[in-house]
Amino acid sequence: MDFIVKITTKLNFFDLIAPHTCRGCGHIGEAFCDRCKKNLKTSHQNYCPNCKTNNTNGKCKKCKNLPPIFNVGDRNSIVGALIKDYKYNSVRALSKPLAELLDNALPIINQPVTIIPLPTIDSHIRQRGLDHTYLLAKQLSKRHHNWSVKKAIIRANNSIQVGSDKKTRLTQANLAYSINPKFKPEKNITYLLLDDVWTTGASIRAGIKILKENDINDIVVGILAVSRLD
Ligand SMILES: [Zn+2]
Ligand SMILES: [Zn+2]
Repeated sequence: MDFIVKITTKLNFFDLIAPHTCRGCGHIGEAFCDRCKKNLKTSHQNYCPNCKTNNTNGKCKKCKNLPPIFNVGDRNSIVGALIKDYKYNSVRALSKPLAELLDNALPIINQPVTIIPLPTIDSHIRQRGLDHTYLLAKQLSKRHHNWSVKKAIIRANNSIQVGSDKKTRLTQANLAYSINPKFKPEKNITYLLLDDVWTTGASIRAGIKILKENDINDIVVGILAVSRLD
């Protein structure tokens, strides 16, 4: 525990002295500058992280049971580095450029959107001092007048995913979440399920399952990074 506290203190101090140094090029100004954002045009939004093939408009022909999935880029690229800095070093200033990058990777949606962030484990939020997916959702919603954020999915338990294989992780993920009893689905709304990284896809699949069980079928998935190699 001591160790975690020390690390967190040190990294927050770093954030304090250099929150606006561009993580891409080192220039002072923004946490991720416009030029670096432009250079990120090689995004993988037309790429299915499940079967690892390219597709058009986020909808994979092979993975018919999955909604359209959009992402910013590969986990091993600068996007992955930005997420690490944002999430583990608690660099809140990165929530804005990350939301912008994700927004650019998403299609135009011609109706109101409700963003549903996949909930983070409570202890991680406490340790990091930020709820990174929720904060990202908030930043994303600010970019559109008819987008909002709802914590429709809550954690049913706060244990950490420890299974190494895909199947175990999916079983664990299915047990990890439940629908918020206060949440009432609405018509003519697109629900954007949001998460940071697609690793095995277990968390996202569990989220999709819960939404479908609650009669939500107009779903789009937005994630920041995917792993092309695993
Ligand atoms: Zn830059
Ligand atoms: Zn696929």
